[in-house]
Amino acid sequence: MVQKKICMLGAFAVGKTSLVERFVNRVFSEKYLTTIGVKIDKKTLSVDGKEVSLLVWDIYGEDEFQKLRASYLRGSSGYILVADGTRRLTLETAMALSKTAEEHLGKVPFVLVVNKADLSAEWEIDENVLAGLSARGWLITRGSAKTGQGVEEIFLTLAERILELDR
Ligand code: GDP
Ligand code: MG
Repeated sequence: MVQKKICMLGAFAVGKTSLVERFVNRVFSEKYLTTIGVKIDKKTLSVDGKEVSLLVWDIYGEDEFQKLRASYLRGSSGYILVADGTRRLTLETAMALSKTAEEHLGKVPFVLVVNKADLSAEWEIDENVLAGLSARGWLITRGSAKTGQGVEEIFLTLAERILELDR
């Protein structure tokens, strides 16, 4: 079976750990989830009839810039970039992290998730900025770790992109 490492990247408290929990265990906890160090989860998906195991590295970060060292990223086939739809600045952090990831990994597939879509009343993200990123070829999904909206698709889309490169 094919195994691929992917990394979760994004500012603090955007929902990285919650998205992984939702994807791997399909549960959501309101309680604050603070992981320490790096957590690695595994989930097997079927992409076009082919089994692929995703090793999902969840990089903890109060200081994700510090932690975003080569050793964390090394060997990643792709990454999930997470922003919080209710905090405009987290999109800028995501864009900066994407640049750093590209410096380490070269151009590998990634998906930008604008998380917390369930909190649309508090939405702060500028749709024009997202449109600009789409125009540059970024894959963008609105999702919610809380409701599960979009979560499966995020990982599946990334897995598809990664496997396309293997052909
Ligand atoms: P991380 O630091 O990026 O790993 O973020 P966490 O997964 O720890 O989530 C940070 C906070 O946001 C927690 O209080 C979560 O319960 C909350 N959270 C995460 N995803 C969602 C979501 O989709 N909707 C809402 N309303 N809250 C969320
Ligand atoms: Mg976390």
